[in-house]
Amino acid sequence: MKERIDQAAEWISHAKAVVVFAGAGLSTESGIPDFRSPGGVWDRYNPEDFYFQNFLASESSREKYWQMTTEMYEPMKEARPNAAHQAIVELEVLGKLDCVITQNIDGLHHKAGNSEERIIELHGTALYVSCLSCKKRYDRDEIQERVRQGQKAPRCDSCGGFLKPATISFGQPMPDTAMRRAQDFTLSCNLFLAIASSLVVWPAAGFPLMAKRNGARLIIINREPTDFDDIADLVVRGDIGTVLEPFV
Ligand code: NAD
Repeated sequence: MKERIDQAAEWISHAKAVVVFAGAGLSTESGIPDFRSPGGVWDRYNPEDFYFQNFLASESSREKYWQMTTEMYEPMKEARPNAAHQAIVELEVLGKLDCVITQNIDGLHHKAGNSEERIIELHGTALYVSCLSCKKRYDRDEIQERVRQGQKAPRCDSCGGFLKPATISFGQPMPDTAMRRAQDFTLSCNLFLAIASSLVVWPAAGFPLMAKRNGARLIIINREPTDFDDIADLVVRGDIGTVLEPFV
């Protein structure tokens, strides 16, 4: 393990452009469950209940969605960044971070202190709510208060459209700007660090592949094997909090 961490540290110190690609495992040590680990979100919910098409299709689906998302939001709101989030901030302070492309919706990169312009939230953010029709944006807490007072599937004040947390559900179009920025950074980096992600959710999982095919070194850090371990230049298997900090 130590040799691998030393190797990663050496590559980072020589790299001109480093991109961090983060998954839900980054926040498990902050108390937010990931999707696929035992006890994760898929142990408790049916993934189909998160499909965008279902959300659009019926009031009862929207009510169910809001019930689930309300339960998931509470621990997210209280969560604090952990050592791994801080290590990514440290990379930025050292002038080593081009950007962090995150699949996480918990806002912890912002809370940890990475600069706004270096964070790309591929799957949006749970800290806001937006209207699917007129795109009006609301603070999440304001809408959660309405849910608490009995609105089961809240609607937009301005146009009556469906309100949904500003996250990307399965089947929902990806955000154009975030995808374009992520692609630009991926194609211009020479070291790509994929951390704490199962790398099975697409199109996000295409970025490590894109970086590798474009000639960047690929380092994967995860607790479990991933489908991309074979193409990585280095795989470090372990808990992100204990691995990332020492090599930064
Ligand atoms: P995932 O659940 O598919 O995979 C997480 C991976 O991280 C797993 O392989 C697991 O073994 C590993 N892991 C868990 N804790 C770890 C730790 N402490 N150290 C090292 N590895 C650890 O998550 P994903 O790949 O990000 O993709 C699924 C989707 O999950 C994303 O779209 C994301 O939007 C969503 N999600 C986000 C949050 C969040 O914002 N915190 C939480 C749950 C799900």
